[in-house]
Amino acid sequence: MSNVVSKNSAINVVNLEKSVTTQEGSLTILKGINLDVKQGESVAILGPSGSGKSTLLGLLAALDTPTAGEIWLDGEALSPLNEEQKAALRKQKVSFIFQSFMLVDTLTALENVMLPAELAGVNNAKEKAEAMLGRVGLSHRLTHLPKQLSGGEQQRVAIARAFICEPKVLFADEPTGNLDSVNGHKIADMLFELNQESHTTLILVTHDLQLAKRCQRQLVMDNGHLQEELGAPQPHNVNDNLELSAKEA
Ligand code: ADP
Ligand code: MG
Repeated sequence: MSNVVSKNSAINVVNLEKSVTTQEGSLTILKGINLDVKQGESVAILGPSGSGKSTLLGLLAALDTPTAGEIWLDGEALSPLNEEQKAALRKQKVSFIFQSFMLVDTLTALENVMLPAELAGVNNAKEKAEAMLGRVGLSHRLTHLPKQLSGGEQQRVAIARAFICEPKVLFADEPTGNLDSVNGHKIADMLFELNQESHTTLILVTHDLQLAKRCQRQLVMDNGHLQEELGAPQPHNVNDNLELSAKEA
């Protein structure tokens, strides 16, 4: 894995570390991560629960601050930015999809999708949101609230919301983790279709090896270390898949 700074990358990470203070003392979650992801690339991150995958995503998306190391997002170094500048960068360049959908409960499907476009000052936000919801097959669900939608439908709303502002980088943290395998596959199909069409860079955390293999690269997080996957999956991934099968059953 390269540790050369590249200004042309969507994401460039050099010697990234993250420690937190707990009741037992200091805990180092990420231990010297180097990563280079080109614009438009799709990268899967596998690895056991607690290995640091979500922490890494939070740092890459400028939601959290590293203890050491540097991150460049679309050529811009994150460390000199203040909170306001980080928020502006996120709004412009980054979207998220979560396992738990994270829609706003009190807003309709249409309003949820419109929200980032409105915040970004797009003037035809409603038309764009309707078109995006059409793309994910939800034109008949515009005025439904999240609680009136199935899990798969909620995640389709989240995908429409994630793509409406044409992000440079989309972070998907176990996007199919709460869905049965049929809905999981549908969500994955939509995600990859929109990703390829819009040349978005996709960073996908998943326990699902099949889903990971649809990405161009597979990385494995193990106890705070990130490595390119070489050959067959390691034994800990087998356990993760068993966990997933149990959830699906
Ligand atoms: P993953 O997404 O791979 O399951 P996480 O990044 O969520 O892993 O967490 C990695 C480890 O760091 C876990 O052991 C978690 O409990 C710990 N951790 C994450 N954030 C904090 C925090 N703010 N304070 C203490 N421990 C944390
Ligand atoms: Mg996680």
